[in-house]
Amino acid sequence: MFDDSASRLEAIAGEITRHTGCGQEPCETATRLVPGEGHSEAAVVIVGEAPGANEDASGRPFVGAAGKLLDQLLGEAGLRREDVFITNVVKARPPGNRDPRPAEIEHHRPWLSAQLDVIGPRLVVPLGRHALRHFAPDATIADVHGTVIERDGRRLFPWYHPAAALYNPGLRPTLFADARALAEVLSDLH
Ligand code: URA
Repeated sequence: MFDDSASRLEAIAGEITRHTGCGQEPCETATRLVPGEGHSEAAVVIVGEAPGANEDASGRPFVGAAGKLLDQLLGEAGLRREDVFITNVVKARPPGNRDPRPAEIEHHRPWLSAQLDVIGPRLVVPLGRHALRHFAPDATIADVHGTVIERDGRRLFPWYHPAAALYNPGLRPTLFADARALAEVLSDLH
């Protein structure tokens, strides 16, 4: 029935948006769950932490101020939003934007794994230390941002979270340099 990546991703998204009744706080309190969106055969998958208020309201990932900066960073990497797939480790907004708890991250892990298995990207870009921890619990964002690291058969290219650069503008040049570095790594992979 689901014979291509786009329809398999749609099936996963449907499962996420219809999800109810698990008792986990973010799933119960969110307006809606946010599966993610983008190209079903993307070379690059961007993984944030969890939806914020704008994403919870719209059902789309990275549509607030951090999303605008993410769009600029993608542009710097020679990519458009529709070229990549953008999602989060946790698909439901934790109340008050608190950090997701370990049990919540585990609860959402199978959906992210399934999305990555369908897309099969060349690079996964975890944004910030929380998303990085999901893939590489031993790594520190300050050490590995803007470099390729491999974990569990996945090639990662971590960036600082764009929201961090909104609070600390001193991080912006680093983020833009890491975006340009992503373009170089991608051209080497082709
Ligand atoms: N921050 C995230 O980590 N994810 C979003 O979707 C929006 C903001």
